[in-house]
Amino acid sequence: MSSSPSQYELLTDLPKVDLHRHLEGSLRIRTLMEIAAQEGLDLPKEESLLREQVQIGTAEPKTLPNFLSKFRVLRPIYRSPEIIQRVTHEAIEDAATDNIVYLELRFTPAALSQARDFPLHEIVEWVIEFAAEAADQFEIRVGLIASVNRHESVGLAEAVAQIAADHAGDGILGLDLAGNEVDFPADPFTSIFKSAEQSGLETTVHAGEWAGADSVSQAITLMSASRIGHGVRVIEDPEVVAIARDRRAAFEVCLTSNLHSGVIGGMEEHPLPKMINAGLVVTLNTDDPGISNVRLSDEYFTAVSELGLSEETLKGLILSGAQHSFLPEPEKKELEGRLQQLLGLGMKEI
Ligand SMILES: [Zn+2]
Repeated sequence: MSSSPSQYELLTDLPKVDLHRHLEGSLRIRTLMEIAAQEGLDLPKEESLLREQVQIGTAEPKTLPNFLSKFRVLRPIYRSPEIIQRVTHEAIEDAATDNIVYLELRFTPAALSQARDFPLHEIVEWVIEFAAEAADQFEIRVGLIASVNRHESVGLAEAVAQIAADHAGDGILGLDLAGNEVDFPADPFTSIFKSAEQSGLETTVHAGEWAGADSVSQAITLMSASRIGHGVRVIEDPEVVAIARDRRAAFEVCLTSNLHSGVIGGMEEHPLPKMINAGLVVTLNTDDPGISNVRLSDEYFTAVSELGLSEETLKGLILSGAQHSFLPEPEKKELEGRLQQLLGLGMKEI
């Protein structure tokens, strides 16, 4: 990559917002090595071999099954509250080090509970507590979203949604639908998401990533999600683009993740510039920094160097992140005002 270090530093220095980052995809490789050794897990001891199992290498196939397989390797590691605490702290520290001023971190209670059958409500309470400690320590604002997977049972999603609703306004801001979009439609989860909204949770749905624009339409109209995880394939259907634009649905775009999971064949094909030109609300995020081996500054650098976005456009996307965060209205306004000041922007609506 013909990088200009000064530009990268400039992008690192920008105060940023990340609305789409999975806790389970944020693990540091050194931490994974230490946990594997301490717990006697059956994982490679050599760093390069371990990386092959949990990160996306340049030579391997960029497919959905390959991408999802990395998360399966990670599930057995969450064997104690101390491990979950460490992973939560480090994910938040890494965001703070990258000058993210507001992080909306999503976590999958089913993934964190699996190794030791921890009760789901304990997982949620732990993550709320650990994230608050780390946010204080690293001086960063953190909001939490609970994730449920399409490819896991509806009953499990219902249980997680109920616990998240019990903590609405008290640690949890939203509910997210993630997982295998190709083989598992969103329909069975519709009523769960409607009830979540009635309980005061905001909702976001992974859609238009591995499935087409119809999936985005379904997330917006049927599930009334206010944000769409990825959603980049919206661009395949002008009617769905119009629906998304009219409803002001916000797209949580994650560039490298799309490349790594085979949504796009090469970065030059990424529809981000088209989405912006179509008047859609767009934000720029990381998805899984540990698995894709990126931080948000890398994604900004890619947006500038490979997709030709200007720094002014990037600043607009940062502000958009604040405006479409799941924070309560007064806190959202406060974040927006602070960012406008830090980014040297006027008070205009983005
Ligand atoms: Zn995601």
